[in-house]
Amino acid sequence: DTIIIDGTAIARGVRESVTRDVDAFVSRTGTRPGLATVLVGDDPASQVYVRNKRRQAASAGIADFHRHLDAEATAADIDGEIDRLAADTAVSGILLQLPLPEGIDSSSSIERIPWFKDVDGLTTTSVGLLARGRPGLQPCTPSGVITLLDAAGIDLAGREAVVVGRSELVGRPVAQMLQARNATVTVVHSRTRNAQAIMRRADILVVAAGVPHLVGRDDVAEGAAVIDVGIHRGTAGLIGDVRFDELLGHAGYLTPVPGGVGPMTIAELLRNTLKAAELAPTSG
Ligand code: NAD
Repeated sequence: DTIIIDGTAIARGVRESVTRDVDAFVSRTGTRPGLATVLVGDDPASQVYVRNKRRQAASAGIADFHRHLDAEATAADIDGEIDRLAADTAVSGILLQLPLPEGIDSSSSIERIPWFKDVDGLTTTSVGLLARGRPGLQPCTPSGVITLLDAAGIDLAGREAVVVGRSELVGRPVAQMLQARNATVTVVHSRTRNAQAIMRRADILVVAAGVPHLVGRDDVAEGAAVIDVGIHRGTAGLIGDVRFDELLGHAGYLTPVPGGVGPMTIAELLRNTLKAAELAPTSG
């Protein structure tokens, strides 16, 4: 029988634990962790994401510093805002909501975020700290994948993990995190030959290809743990990169879409914001 990993419940547990830890942080330091969300322009999806992040941060006791720049903002405007937030000791974490409006390169703005406020884990410094296995802030969705595996009690050490996808946002960092936990990791990507044979070796299969229903029963060993990072809006609601129905009764563990990895991202963002407050050079 397949165990369904309930991301909604696990994310709720993370949020509750962060809420308690934020309380303890406030009692200990007399300061409150704060999250700055920077939204540029009026992209409807980005507005929804930012609203959800702010709402969940507020309910965890995290102070809200929202900055909305209009769609005509220049790179210099965005950089100026980030520099102000970087200098503000009340702001623990800075999140620049992506994508930026057409024609503005996000990477140079992201690099202005100090590593200890980089709650999305996207700066070159954060990427380097993760690669070196040093303490820092790690990207939220990959952290959510690891949290789900841990919550389900799945052993990683010494086991064969296959990650489908090598993006900066998901595939690459999740592969590094699995390796840091002593899994034996193979990364499959769009140029991989014999992807099916490789995926079938996996004890743990993390799918982040961004291709609807890419992975099915023939790609998965019986009993494997399958984590589906993909999110796509289909005609019948949200679907993932994995053919969920085919894997029921075949996989050992399986995450649903929605209700799997999706809810974990903001929960991990809250955890990162608290961690950022603890990393801040000014906090005792
Ligand atoms: P991306 O498009 O940046 O990267 C996809 C990767 O998959 C690439 O490295 C590519 O080489 C690889 N790939 C593409 N087709 C493949 C194939 N047929 N076989 C093997 N590998 C293939 O996407 P991303 O940003 O990493 O996101 C992946 C998916 O995860 C998307 O569906 C995205 O919507 C979803 N996502 C969900 C969350 C969340 O749950 N909160 C967060 C981020 C991304």
